[in-house]
Amino acid sequence: MTTPLLGQMMDVPLTVSSLIAHAARHFGSTEIVSRRIEGDMHRYTYRDCETRAKRLAQALIGLGVQPGERIGTLAWNGYRHLEVYYGTTGFGAVCHTINPRLFPDQIAWIINDAQDSYVMFDTTFAPLVDCLAPRCPNVRGWIALADEAHLPHLPMPTSTALISYETLLEPHDGAFGWPPLDERQASYLCYTSGTTGNPKGALYSHRSTVLHAFGASLPDAMCLSARDSVLPVVPMFHVNAWGIPHSAPLTGAKLVFPGKDLDGKSLFELMEAEGVTYSAGVPTVWLGLLNYMKEAGVRFSTLQRTVIGGSACPPAMLRTFEDDYGVEVIHAWGMTEMSPLGTLAKLTWEQSQRPPDEQRKLREKQGHVMYGVDMKIVGDDGRDLPWDGVAFGDLHVRGPWVIKRYFQKDDSPLVDGWFPTGDVATIDPDGFLHITDRSKDVIKSGGEWISSIDLENVAIAHPAVAEAACIACAHPKWTERPLLVIVKRPGADVTREELLAFYEGKVAKWWIPDDVVFVDELPHTATGKLQKLKLREMFREHVLPSALDIADCPFKVPS
Ligand code: ADP
Repeated sequence: MTTPLLGQMMDVPLTVSSLIAHAARHFGSTEIVSRRIEGDMHRYTYRDCETRAKRLAQALIGLGVQPGERIGTLAWNGYRHLEVYYGTTGFGAVCHTINPRLFPDQIAWIINDAQDSYVMFDTTFAPLVDCLAPRCPNVRGWIALADEAHLPHLPMPTSTALISYETLLEPHDGAFGWPPLDERQASYLCYTSGTTGNPKGALYSHRSTVLHAFGASLPDAMCLSARDSVLPVVPMFHVNAWGIPHSAPLTGAKLVFPGKDLDGKSLFELMEAEGVTYSAGVPTVWLGLLNYMKEAGVRFSTLQRTVIGGSACPPAMLRTFEDDYGVEVIHAWGMTEMSPLGTLAKLTWEQSQRPPDEQRKLREKQGHVMYGVDMKIVGDDGRDLPWDGVAFGDLHVRGPWVIKRYFQKDDSPLVDGWFPTGDVATIDPDGFLHITDRSKDVIKSGGEWISSIDLENVAIAHPAVAEAACIACAHPKWTERPLLVIVKRPGADVTREELLAFYEGKVAKWWIPDDVVFVDELPHTATGKLQKLKLREMFREHVLPSALDIADCPFKVPS
């Protein structure tokens, strides 16, 4: 074997600190604007941000925090949270973002599992911290992201400190050089929401984080630039706000942080005030914003594009954004285990020459993989399924920002080197992914799959429907049939029969739900996704009127 000829380029490790260092040096005066928990607006620059992140690194090193130690955060999107991102990872500690919307028991479990040594928290979460502190004996200190005057009065267990973040930074000057790190070192830790048992940790590396930031910034991905003012509504406490806190400094985009007020009015006003051109969030948040805008009769004056993902973007929402407000929607799919971005629905030149209807249909799907992610769908026997837009299969992915195992777990979840996502999907000849279900949510009727997401999308397009969930309901003949659970818009009315008639011509006849029930509210997970397992439990005893037209059914009738 001959020795391979090595390239003669610099071995510069891909570290998270290089992102903020780049922004401070080359976009030093670009602003980061935050609506603070204290109620006022805060403005400073990337240069200021890096200095304060360095002061935090100095302070944490002063507290004895070692590289590799986990520092938890329970915080909204804001400048101090951003400083924690860089001030921890910058010297080799691990920033462990925690979702404060989980149940306290789950949060305590996560903090103990991660062995966080300090936890930084926004003062809105003081009551939560009060309940967590006695249950997390390994935490050496709770650091309130506030000055001394706003430090909440919380009793702490003996030998546990309660510290004001500003007081902690006070003695330090920021004269600190980011140390060189191995790019494979851990950078961030994020737990999944635990919809299937205890949450599991995805431990990202510096390399995976920087590569993801590169990929996310590309024109056919998030397409961020130094001309953008970007408002991430997606929380920094879950999957690093889809990487925006990294791709914004990489590209020099202005950052606008909304803090805790995520209602339609607050978001709209902030977007207008800060010339926001770009945003990102889950459909539930946009529902609130669009409802507010309709009621108030207002329009965006600067917003150009928004990424919608986390759950399926209803086509009706895409239409409203684009047709009523002229805002381009980029439908995206990903997951915690993928840092999170996997696919985005952007068209090629050829696809953009097709009839408008066809273009829309493509863009309503979850989209095309970005460089860095590879995907395939497999059948029950593990064999690859065709990309014909018809075959449903389990979606598997791989790539440098996909996990190979969960934090503190020895066994690998990979199947032949691929990560099974737990999603069920089709892929069409254009390479566009269409998520039809989570594997545990699929509706199997007479041996054939029915897409609950497609059925929800039809219902949500009805003017009287605020939210829709479609679940499998036991059926003596077909094993399962779809049941539609609906929340009506305030003041609007629609009957079961009208809704079922609304499906005519929009889906195959045998897909049409067997029944509709109306509820005041649907159960959601901490990340705003429908909790279908809970819904299934709620309607376990529901008896469907057997109305399926057997003649129209393409599959064999089970005897
Ligand atoms: P969890 O912690 O529940 O795993 P994630 O934020 O990691 O939460 O969610 C990932 C899952 O969310 C995906 O596997 C998929 O089921 C769903 N999801 C994300 N984006 C979309 C989308 N655009 N359309 C449909 N489902 C989506």
